[in-house]
Amino acid sequence: MEGKHKVDPGLAPLQIELREAMGRWGCPLCRLSIKAEHAFIASLTYERVLDLKTRDALKASRGLCESHTRYWQHVQGSALGIAIVSRVSVLDLLRDTDEAKTRPGSLFRRRDRAGDTAARLEESGPCPACEIGAGTVQRFGALLLQDIEDEAAQEGLLASGGVCLPHLRTILQLRHAERAFDALMRVQRQAWAKLMGELEEFIRKNDYRFTDEPMSEAEATSWTRVLDVLQGLNDKTG
Ligand SMILES: [Zn+2]
Ligand SMILES: [Zn+2]
Repeated sequence: MEGKHKVDPGLAPLQIELREAMGRWGCPLCRLSIKAEHAFIASLTYERVLDLKTRDALKASRGLCESHTRYWQHVQGSALGIAIVSRVSVLDLLRDTDEAKTRPGSLFRRRDRAGDTAARLEESGPCPACEIGAGTVQRFGALLLQDIEDEAAQEGLLASGGVCLPHLRTILQLRHAERAFDALMRVQRQAWAKLMGELEEFIRKNDYRFTDEPMSEAEATSWTRVLDVLQGLNDKTG
């Protein structure tokens, strides 16, 4: 919504990336983690041979989580990549439910075959795209805690409407959060207060007595932006 802020080119590369993510509306940590998740999914789409680590992670998680799967499904040109990755998951399903393993009289005598199978079908690891997103939040969150002392970073974060509530909770638990606490919370509270004023005007101007009063763009979009603040951006809003 707000225009992009100018970023000092003398900053370190990661800091420049963070500042660029801060110059526009929406939690910068959401924006950066979504970007990293999408880059990972693009690599699944275009690299036909997966590295061992990714292959093992996808086996453990039995494919991507629901939201990343649905995102991937709508990526242009993803059909073959999805087929290749998902084929491994289906092979695993066949292997893990092999009759020899569930037949009564073998290992499963007098045992709960249904319950055992349910347990065996559980995932044994998290979605690797989610993992990459979480790692990105940790890395840039730590950087934000250092950067927030700088006035330009404070302005940038304010223009973003602060970090979203889930990511605020995350970074408040990072090392060094105490040191950055005052500056961070000042910006967060300023951003919330601004949004609060816009929401109040949006609500007031929806009253028939005041519908003649023009609504600013910030007021008109406040009801969707508050969702970004409370829940974070997602694959569609990011
Ligand atoms: Zn966020
Ligand atoms: Zn995921």
